[in-house]
Amino acid sequence: MTADPPGLAFAYDLRPVRVVFGHGALAQLPAELAALDRGRVLLLATAGRAETLARLRGALGARVAGVFDQAAEHVPAAVVERALAEVKRANPDVCVSVGGGSAIGLGKAIARDTGLMLAAVPTTYAGSEMTSIWGITGETGKRTGREARVAPRLVLYDPELTLSLPPAVSAASGMNAMAHAAEALYAAHADPGTLALAEEAARILATSLPRVVAAPGDRAARAEALAGAHLAGRALELAAMGLHHRICHVLGGTFGLPHARTHAIVLPHVVAFNAPAATVAMRRLARALGADEAAAGLARLNRALGLTGTLGDLGLRPADIPRAAAEVVAAAYANPRPVTAEAVHAILEAALRGEVSPRAAAG
Ligand code: NAD
Repeated sequence: MTADPPGLAFAYDLRPVRVVFGHGALAQLPAELAALDRGRVLLLATAGRAETLARLRGALGARVAGVFDQAAEHVPAAVVERALAEVKRANPDVCVSVGGGSAIGLGKAIARDTGLMLAAVPTTYAGSEMTSIWGITGETGKRTGREARVAPRLVLYDPELTLSLPPAVSAASGMNAMAHAAEALYAAHADPGTLALAEEAARILATSLPRVVAAPGDRAARAEALAGAHLAGRALELAAMGLHHRICHVLGGTFGLPHARTHAIVLPHVVAFNAPAATVAMRRLARALGADEAAAGLARLNRALGLTGTLGDLGLRPADIPRAAAEVVAAAYANPRPVTAEAVHAILEAALRGEVSPRAAAG
């Protein structure tokens, strides 16, 4: 029996989602919610987003039944409990998450528990708004899953709302989106359309993110980066993620490392590891990055974005590595190259010290 050529054996579900994208699109939110027959709104955000929340309150007026602004990274179970109490009090018809993956993740946890419809107004590049992937972190670490009912039914992108996202957060969040695109490109059984989405996402992100970091008020660059993140989120939804996402899941869920910066640091290392087993994907990724070689292109982009930190800077200690490596290999996940605890150990050590692989250093 011969193996299927890459990309030519696939199956996927498409679920209904309305996407509205454009400068000033926030003004369309009331009409879009009305079209979905949703009246009372509970707004969800992370702390410190008062200005953005004020803009949403301005747009939605009396439809706002409540505001919960305590969303936090990796969706702590205790925060979900508090938000569910606010749901009970406000009795909304829809939750509207405004912000990044943390606010959207909280909306998904609420949808999972209550069945409440979720709408998302993303203001980072995490891409969670386009997926049915949920995550909740409790005492035993982070649990994740895929369920159609948690996915936002409406996604409204207004690049104006991203102008305030600090350059360092934009850079790391953008590399989180890049990670979705990179792993989609070598995902087993990704369909040809998803591969095209992923390559285009990587190309747009690679060209727009340096402009966003250099000039955070550049509206065109902001819109392009957000569009790249949108495509990467769609690729994340339609393709199975591999070793890179598994490592970041463990580092965030068990060791409390910050999500986006961890993605940025780990990605070139995992891509270098997977390169020999995914030559077609690597050619596409390198082409999208305008580089001779994919891992080198990613390392170069990180440097251009000022992302020069190490996992050590984020709080991982050398003594954590054996436990992290064991946890990474304890679960089954797709990856083009077979993974051993030793290989993960080596990747984490290099990323902890800030070394780049010889492959990535060439960039
Ligand atoms: P985040 O949502 O925590 O936001 C990062 C910071 O930026 C926060 O302090 C937030 O308040 C701030 N911020 C957001 N928008 C801003 C704006 N416009 N101006 C100024 N500040 C702004 O971080 P993130 O990287 O977007 O999301 C990370 C979380 O998302 C993690 O928990 C991760 O697991 C999850 N995630 C989930 C998926 C999925 O498909 N389920 C995909 C990617 C990420």
